[in-house]
Amino acid sequence: MTVDIGETIVGLEIHVQLATATKLFCGCSTDYQDDGPNTHCCPVCLGLPGALPHVNRKAVEYGLKVAKALDMRVPEESEFARKNYFYPDLAKAYQITQSDKPLAVEGTVEIEDDEGHEKIVRITRAHLEEDPGRLVHVGGGSKYSLVDYNRSGIPLLEIVTEPDMRSPQEARRFLNKLRTILEYLGVFDGEREGGLRVDANISMRGSERVEVKNISSYKGVEKALTFEVTRQRNLLRRGQKVARETRHFMEGRGITTSARSKEEAHDYRYFPDPDLGPIRVTGWLAGIDLPELPTARKNRFMAQYGISLNHARTLTGDPRLADFYEHVAHIEPVLAATWVADTLLGELNYRNMGIAAVPAEQIIELLALLRSEAITDRAGVQVLREMLDACAAGKPCEAPAAIVEREGLARVVGDDFTPIVQAVVAANPQAVEDYRAGKKGALNFLVGQVMKETRGRADPRELGRIVSEYIDTGGV
Ligand SMILES: [Zn+2]
Repeated sequence: MTVDIGETIVGLEIHVQLATATKLFCGCSTDYQDDGPNTHCCPVCLGLPGALPHVNRKAVEYGLKVAKALDMRVPEESEFARKNYFYPDLAKAYQITQSDKPLAVEGTVEIEDDEGHEKIVRITRAHLEEDPGRLVHVGGGSKYSLVDYNRSGIPLLEIVTEPDMRSPQEARRFLNKLRTILEYLGVFDGEREGGLRVDANISMRGSERVEVKNISSYKGVEKALTFEVTRQRNLLRRGQKVARETRHFMEGRGITTSARSKEEAHDYRYFPDPDLGPIRVTGWLAGIDLPELPTARKNRFMAQYGISLNHARTLTGDPRLADFYEHVAHIEPVLAATWVADTLLGELNYRNMGIAAVPAEQIIELLALLRSEAITDRAGVQVLREMLDACAAGKPCEAPAAIVEREGLARVVGDDFTPIVQAVVAANPQAVEDYRAGKKGALNFLVGQVMKETRGRADPRELGRIVSEYIDTGGV
């Protein structure tokens, strides 16, 4: 029996910790990462009776900045509400959030779909709320739990999308794009653990929807959704139903497991927080300046530097990388794009290093050596690796020219190769015969042998010419 299964539908709720200096409703510092538990707390964020919250202006500004960047509409008035539920990390037994009247509504984010075309993911709303505290489970098998209120009251912006994504990969691309925008805006610290947490809604069209809660990494989102696609499709294929429920993602095992059945909104008994008045900030919008955003920067890179869409996309995917590229681009923009986006990024990923660890001046020098053809591409890679290995080991970075000198990597041109070509040709009569018989690969083989002897100092194309000329003109 074949069962018709509908397409995959994904919507996301993203909780972003806004990088303000103080919490959302009190003056406690948000910089607690290296401090002991419960050291950044006061009566307000501990929820003590009689303590009164006041709204952090910066958090509202950051929220508006995001709203403007995502092309959202900011209603005349927004409002904080109390979401009532009991949990040990929530001392007040309610969370201050925005329910009926969010800060901003109706935005868009442009991503690439699975065919590489541009597509729009619609943003439903963005609202401000406070982060709860954090439970720390102690002892083997969690004998007991401790609670840390340092995180309690950290400002969150919750961004909710329409169910516009059609695969786990699209969801990952959306998150990457959103994260890039947030980093460009400077409202979010991408390095902070738990700085961005995701709830994902996923269904097969025509079936019930499942919510996967609290996924704390991008890879996690793609993995959790991929698992759900398989699980839901298998159920439907067997003629069973998908239950409407909340599930947890077990990061270590890469699976989701059933949690409680989902509460309905009315279970939370939302009502406007009487301690906080309405927020009317549409007048602030005109004064909020946006930096150049990823899509605009990508288009400018292509126009200004003449580089490919793929390179422009990669280079603008991280503001630090884009800045780095612009710093070294003057040497020769297309050459620089290839070396930064392809070679350097690959070598950095391999060493688990960030672009911040790379001295731009050294890359400029390396690019200059490559442009003047003082070294071959192959020698360039070797120089780059030596440099990065030293950086990774915390040693002082050696200048590319010094590495070229020390390793004898300077490109050798013209006649200097003749003895090596001679020797290789003499040692491989079969390959020479094959080359003369027009067999493909014979010349490459001979060039490869010469390359080996020259340790990459020669340009393969030039060597190809030299070797074929040598044989053709009867050098042997
Ligand atoms: Zn506080």
